[in-house]
Amino acid sequence: MNNYDIVIGLEIHVQLKTESKMFCSSSANYFGEKPNSRVCPTCLALPGALPVTNRQAMENAIKVGLALNCKINNFNRFDRKSYFYPDLPKGFQISQFDLPVAKDGFVMVGERKIRINRAHQEEDTGKLIHQEIVGDKVSLIDFNRSGVPLIEIVSEPDITSAEEAKNYAKKIHQLMRYIGVADVDMEKAGMRFDANVSIKPKGEKELGTKVEIKNINSFTFLEKAVNFEVARQLRAIDSGEKIIQETRGWIESKGETVSQRTKETSPDYRYFPDPDLPPLNFDSEEIETIAKTLPELPDAKTSRFEQDYHLNPYEISVLVEDQNVANWFEETLNIYSKTQGISKTEKAKIVSNWVQGEVMRVLKELGISIWELKVEPASFTELLLMIDKNRVSKQAAKQVFSEMVRTGEMPEKIIKDLKLEQVSDVLELGTTIEEVLADNQKAVSDYKAGKDSSFDFLFGQVMRRAKGANPTALREVLKEKLK
Ligand code: ADP
Ligand code: MG
Repeated sequence: MNNYDIVIGLEIHVQLKTESKMFCSSSANYFGEKPNSRVCPTCLALPGALPVTNRQAMENAIKVGLALNCKINNFNRFDRKSYFYPDLPKGFQISQFDLPVAKDGFVMVGERKIRINRAHQEEDTGKLIHQEIVGDKVSLIDFNRSGVPLIEIVSEPDITSAEEAKNYAKKIHQLMRYIGVADVDMEKAGMRFDANVSIKPKGEKELGTKVEIKNINSFTFLEKAVNFEVARQLRAIDSGEKIIQETRGWIESKGETVSQRTKETSPDYRYFPDPDLPPLNFDSEEIETIAKTLPELPDAKTSRFEQDYHLNPYEISVLVEDQNVANWFEETLNIYSKTQGISKTEKAKIVSNWVQGEVMRVLKELGISIWELKVEPASFTELLLMIDKNRVSKQAAKQVFSEMVRTGEMPEKIIKDLKLEQVSDVLELGTTIEEVLADNQKAVSDYKAGKDSSFDFLFGQVMRRAKGANPTALREVLKEKLK
């Protein structure tokens, strides 16, 4: 293992979120719909039907390119990639070849720069469903997915471990969510990976023969599949075998990759410009306008959080992971520091601890996103202020927060209803203390004679009687009374 370098390049397919399909007006919202109910002559490839490019899909594709630090090809066009498969009714897929929408980019995965070779726009295929009907094994075709916009992001072979492959895939997933062009719902196969894996003697310039593992649809499977494949190749080389260029599939139930087809030479797709589609020409101004719609991206947000809030890298990564969480955190922090007239840097840690702790816990427990949370930053800030003013203990505040999540009520009402307010009122505490002192005269005289432990005893007695007393206030009043 130590004598070999691992070389990985990923091809990632991402379905872009649009109303209609890539080249026709059929609904792109196909998931879970009745088979073959989202189709028209174009996506069924009926003779004479013509494609028309979906502008929204191209704008989304440009956003993807920009988010991946790519150069955008102002002039780009579609090509036909010919191959036969039952789920591809035209006998070719409309894709991009030599003039893809975006090229030469990179993403940072931790400290490492993974270069992006290109991102090209294409269309998804239909879906084969293998079933048994009255004892016969049959294959059915659902064309609802046929023609749904797809972007393929091709990395350079810069990835050096299964874990890094997973982290790279997660970074792309995060970027897609940030820019809002795709749902990237893994369960609905909105994002799929092909992993190209090879090994070579350590330090060797020339790359080894690659094996492509197709159609992986989870981060965990991606990591497992690459690990398996690396180990398989090492074993093969060790026993004097040659790696053959082939396509393999990950079989989760077996925990291994199995050969699907070998390609001695890559297939001849006979790419040529699609004569039915005019080339696209975006001028720089249009691209500039699209660029302006991009939100602050994760890397920039991370640096800003480091500078502004002095949180540690782990805390920042948790906050920045989902931009809605980051926004909720910042909105709370803004209101909180403004009402108190204290700098954001000083209050960041408190808010961050709450977000990472209780807020995240509740989101996980309910399986919801932060934008579905009934608690707004403004009402949450009120709770933080109550803690600062000692009106509720930190422990009780957690209970108040749970109630806020459940009912959407304001904290003020909840602490009244649930009687969670700490008693800090000196008069009220004073009466209780006097009662306790009267009932425990021995302890009082012991304390006065110098027995310190009697103080703790009396303190405990008062705490028990004055339910919900603020311990700090109580300690002070008790000391005063015993003087
Ligand atoms: P193909 O023409 O077979 O599709 P490409 O050169 O387009 O091959 O590369 C496809 C993907 O495979 C890219 O992500 C690339 O980084 C990766 N790749 C290419 N050569 C290797 C290799 N020897 N080992 C691992 N990955 C590779
Ligand atoms: Mg390829």
